[in-house]
Amino acid sequence: MSTAPLDILALAAHRDDVEQTCGGTLLKMAQRGYRTGILDLTQGEMGTRGTAEDRAREAAEAARILYVTWRQALDIPDGRVENTWENRLKVAHVIREQRPRVLILPYWKGRHPDHYNASTLGYEACFAAGLAKLVITRQAATAEPLPPHRPFKIIYATLYYDIRPTFVVDITDQFEARFQSLMAYQSQYSDQEAGKDLFPARAEIRARVEAMARHYGMLGGVTYAEPFLQKEVGLVEDVLAIPVKSI
Ligand SMILES: [Zn+2]
Repeated sequence: MSTAPLDILALAAHRDDVEQTCGGTLLKMAQRGYRTGILDLTQGEMGTRGTAEDRAREAAEAARILYVTWRQALDIPDGRVENTWENRLKVAHVIREQRPRVLILPYWKGRHPDHYNASTLGYEACFAAGLAKLVITRQAATAEPLPPHRPFKIIYATLYYDIRPTFVVDITDQFEARFQSLMAYQSQYSDQEAGKDLFPARAEIRARVEAMARHYGMLGGVTYAEPFLQKEVGLVEDVLAIPVKSI
């Protein structure tokens, strides 16, 4: 009935957000033998290009490229991600069912309301998921309540917002595959007429994705990296082992 817990779960508003903000990190962790997962809050029915069905197929292909063990999309309306109790319960259900140790959330500020709302919704859902007296039952007929769970660590993927990250993950070896996972969304990223003014051409996307990854890579002294923020301070055991050169 219950599967092994996920080591890392990445939550985002839209299919392809995770591929853009932390896909390389997920792939790197999968290559290290960790069980990774993606929870998309919406199904993409409001997108200028393609249908929700197109995007489901593309999301599955992207997950395959990133060696993601588990991926699911909730039924929260696209363009209307709201931090309601009902939505918190939907996310808390997943948190209790998948039991991740690390949760990646979007950063809590941004241009798109779905992105910053997903951040607060994700955080508050984790809080609810840990409440011992809050009963959340499995969807299956057994109606057995799911035990409380909170991730040990929550980190924020900051790529969509211009803020200095607290750490970056070296994705130099994962960069190409991460770009391919983004290109799996053919309905979004192939050169076409619909939404031409909104969506840059494929070559331009490649240049932008590379520029961002290089920028954050440079901050960490590597070629390509993805930026993250943690609210907690870093804890150090051995000051001689701290990476990234100062001078
Ligand atoms: Zn998005």
